[in-house]
Amino acid sequence: MSGILTYALHYEGEFNKNSLGAVSEGAKLAKEIGGDAAVVVVGGDDLTDELCGSLGKYGATKVFRAKAPEGLAQPVVDVMAKVIQDQGYSYALFGGGLLGFEIGAGLTARLNAGVTMEVTEVKAQDGKLVAVRPILQDSAVAEVDYVGEPGIIIGRLNAFEMQESGDGAAPVEDVDVQLSEWSTKAKMLQRGEQRGADVNIEDADILVAGGRGLGKKEGFELAENLADALGGAVAATRAVVDAGWYPYAAQIGQTGKTVAPKLYLAAGISGAIQHKVGMQSSENIVAINKDPNAPIFEFSDLGIVGDLNKILPKLTQAVKAKKG
Ligand SMILES: Cc1cc2nc3c(=O)[nH]c(=O)nc-3n(C[C@H](O)[C@H](O)[C@H](O)COP(=O)(O)OP(=O)(O)OC[C@H]3O[C@@H](n4cnc5c(N)ncnc54)[C@H](O)[C@@H]3O)c2cc1C
Repeated sequence: MSGILTYALHYEGEFNKNSLGAVSEGAKLAKEIGGDAAVVVVGGDDLTDELCGSLGKYGATKVFRAKAPEGLAQPVVDVMAKVIQDQGYSYALFGGGLLGFEIGAGLTARLNAGVTMEVTEVKAQDGKLVAVRPILQDSAVAEVDYVGEPGIIIGRLNAFEMQESGDGAAPVEDVDVQLSEWSTKAKMLQRGEQRGADVNIEDADILVAGGRGLGKKEGFELAENLADALGGAVAATRAVVDAGWYPYAAQIGQTGKTVAPKLYLAAGISGAIQHKVGMQSSENIVAINKDPNAPIFEFSDLGIVGDLNKILPKLTQAVKAKKG
């Protein structure tokens, strides 16, 4: 059988948005190439018929439900490998996110399959899928097709849009899977949001946004200190969110949030178009960048050319002194 198998992560009775994007995309593509748009869900008793069937709203034509620990990669690899081997799906599709990457990579190794990661678009061509992914620091795109089956496609976080397309509940089928010995060695101890996830950046008057120029995760302390002194909040680019330096809740741009604060201070941000669309309506844009030719200066009200490691602490000190 041809068709596309996706994975949907759930937590506290809800499927996550990124997964629903992948389910919607899988449903759209399955229609185009012909075949099932199936979804694998893994978890305990909280996976009710109603919850699993609700994936039909996003176009799923079938849901495979397995009892196994949720939120860990290896049990899902076991389940998806079995479903693909038994039912013969041609493609497995994942919304990006750390778990999607981990499961997709594990499944690729298990099935000796071909994989494309960081995919931003998938096209149906002559009954097959072609994955499109940016390369060379997003300055060009590559189109990847697959030799043999299954093909594994791992999207960028939130690259696929959640869309309601189905008109009823999807049928749910229970699958009994013998988990591999190593799949039960890890246990989920705690699940929660990352640091900063509680900040409502859409309502903040002042945002200090950090990009790859902060150098490393710890570099965000510089942005947090300045935001604290100014009474604002911290935002981030996708590059640093993808790198795990800051939570997704703070991402500004095409696949993140759109903001219009009184002051948007961009530190170590190049000013890519996908970032610009999320912050260009800010009343005042101040950019700090060591590269005088950085695109961000083209739409900033004030540009500071220099090293943010020197400028941010001095600025924080000056704001504190003025307030104090
Ligand atoms: C489909 C798609 C959707 C996307 N969606 C988004 C989105 O929603 N949001 C988003 O932000 N991006 C998005 N992107 C990614 C976007 O194209 C850029 O890759 C990203 O915005 C770059 O992030 P950055 O500015 O942090 O990193 P970089 O582009 O690497 O820029 C880092 C900057 O820091 C400067 N710098 C380095 N060191 C210092 C220093 N010590 N002092 C001062 N400056 C320094 C450098 O000169 C450079 O300009 C998307 C891309 C695609 C293809």
